[in-house]
Amino acid sequence: MIKFRCAGNWKLNKSIAETRNFAKILLAKIEISQQSHFTIYPPALVAGELATELAKSDVIWGGQNCYSQPSGAFTGENSAQTLKEMGASSCLIGHSERRAIFGEADSLLADKVKLVQALDLEAVLCIGETLEQRRAGKVKSVIESQLELGLAGVDWSKSFVVAYEPVWAIGTGEVATPQQVEEAHAFIREFLKHISPKGETTPIWYGGSVKPGNAKELSQIKNVNGFLIGGASLKVDDFVGIYQATL
Ligand code: PEP
Repeated sequence: MIKFRCAGNWKLNKSIAETRNFAKILLAKIEISQQSHFTIYPPALVAGELATELAKSDVIWGGQNCYSQPSGAFTGENSAQTLKEMGASSCLIGHSERRAIFGEADSLLADKVKLVQALDLEAVLCIGETLEQRRAGKVKSVIESQLELGLAGVDWSKSFVVAYEPVWAIGTGEVATPQQVEEAHAFIREFLKHISPKGETTPIWYGGSVKPGNAKELSQIKNVNGFLIGGASLKVDDFVGIYQATL
């Protein structure tokens, strides 16, 4: 059975004080046995504060991004090696904002997946089509290509996650319909199983305007093994409410 995870992507939000406060309130609101269902991806500069607050808990945290090399002359980049030293156990790779705003290409993302896995961190490869691509009937070909290229060097003996996030549903309030989610996740599952029998148990998360009000229905869809949550993960009540709706 794949553990259902609620993962909050804070993007470029939360100060140091807000981070401390959020972590304290989160830990006070949830049972110890529920902690490992929660994951937080904070901005890199507040990760140290979050790590300190979560140190004695089972809440997982990770990087929103890292560079494809562990160190070197890469001004402004973040090291996956250092994330690990700080206590991270996961890292997002290829979020649609990284692809669209920062021009990250699939080949770079494949290198990131390899490095993150080599460090025994969980690699979370984010994929998903734009509205234009959906309207052009290209959902499956886009997903297939992003998986094929992004997972080119994936190590099946180590953990990784695929996060399906239709770009048109991110931060827009527009949620994919249950049928759209089911179809995309089934396609991803078949793709993964085709490459390796281990693809049967690779977690596939849905992301795109998940809220407490739609979480129950979305969580019940076959092959939805977790959520990647942006806006609603910034409010501790909504973040916890989403998890509670999945129970
Ligand atoms: C995201 O940024 O990964 C995301 C899913 O955002 P939101 O939940 O705000 O749509």
